[in-house]
Amino acid sequence: MAWSLKSGLPVGKIIKSTVFTQFCAGESLMESHETAVMLSQSNVGSILDYSVEGEQNEEDFEKNALYLQNAIRKAAKYPEIYPFAVFKSTAVGNTQVLTKVTMDNTLSALEMESYQNWKNRMFAICELSSSLGLPILVDAEETYIQGAIDKLVIDLMKSLNKQKAMVFNTVQLYRKEGLDIVKKIFLEAEKHEFFAGFKLVRGAYLEKEQKWAENKKIPNPINPSKKATDEMFDDAVVFCMKNLQKISICAGTHNELSTLKIIDLMHKMKLKNNDKRVWFAQLLGMSDNLTFVLANEGYNSAKYLPFGPVKEVMPYLIRRAEENSAVAGQMGRELKLLLKERKRRH
Ligand SMILES: Cc1cc2nc3c(=O)[nH]c(=O)nc-3n(C[C@H](O)[C@H](O)[C@H](O)COP(=O)(O)OP(=O)(O)OC[C@H]3O[C@@H](n4cnc5c(N)ncnc54)[C@H](O)[C@@H]3O)c2cc1C
Repeated sequence: MAWSLKSGLPVGKIIKSTVFTQFCAGESLMESHETAVMLSQSNVGSILDYSVEGEQNEEDFEKNALYLQNAIRKAAKYPEIYPFAVFKSTAVGNTQVLTKVTMDNTLSALEMESYQNWKNRMFAICELSSSLGLPILVDAEETYIQGAIDKLVIDLMKSLNKQKAMVFNTVQLYRKEGLDIVKKIFLEAEKHEFFAGFKLVRGAYLEKEQKWAENKKIPNPINPSKKATDEMFDDAVVFCMKNLQKISICAGTHNELSTLKIIDLMHKMKLKNNDKRVWFAQLLGMSDNLTFVLANEGYNSAKYLPFGPVKEVMPYLIRRAEENSAVAGQMGRELKLLLKERKRRH
């Protein structure tokens, strides 16, 4: 699909009426707002995600940063668009420069300028969102750039999370270091007196990470098994929940067992279902059986609503297609549930 689009083949319409409609809310913020209104009728929040990826020049980064700030201004005016704004750091900064920063390599003068521009854009976006009262999630990306992102998001938290968690860092628990990163940021929060916000996810770049490690002849940064990732995800949840006086979480997961474990913990801790420090989120087009049941039971539940021009959201759509192509995977499970429910109703 990506190749067909690049070659100018007229496949845009087919993509728009199939995978795009399933996984994206629209090509613009206005189009996506309609989905947010519909979700809000079921008490489900909408996290609008301008899903452009892989830009490579400063002009595009600047354009994206301005677009994101405009989108945040509009989003903050719509009551249906809550509880978070979200963005990807690589939409506003150069991946190669972030890789060098993560690897502690020396930057040229030009790269230094690009790095500083990225930091300025990240601050401008988060400061705006926080000033408008809309907490913001910073997505997690590949390990080889995530070091630079983590470092900056800690600074953002130090500066903007003095009263409550307004900036959330995303931690991928498929990383061997995942739980340590959560603990390290928590220690910083205690030391510098700020509130930590975490979006906890398992991680979306499994194969890419494996290939990168093989190519660079470095140890694979990913946990040795799915079981190890599952355990680390649940351990991170327990750690955060035990420290809720300083931590807020958004559990970005489609895993039913992990979701049930969080609910169980909330009950054991005698928290209200809608305790404002605990959010659940799923991606649009996936796991409606979790999102809507959670919302119905009074838990804080939201959907990620990716949006953007068809061409620009292709990397996101390809990740979803890959994730959902296995019959034994998420979509297979959901299809089974739908068929079972249809049978029950007839
Ligand atoms: C709201 C939301 C926001 C998200 N934001 C981000 C983000 O910012 N960055 C990001 O990277 N991802 C993000 N994701 C995607 C997420 O990381 C997962 O890829 C996806 O949700 C599938 O994991 P799961 O917890 O839903 O469930 P499951 O289906 O139970 O888990 C699948 C996941 O387990 C892990 N896994 C699978 N096999 C193995 C193995 N052999 N060894 C080790 N681990 C394995 C992988 O992470 C895989 O994606 C987000 C997801 C949601 C719902």
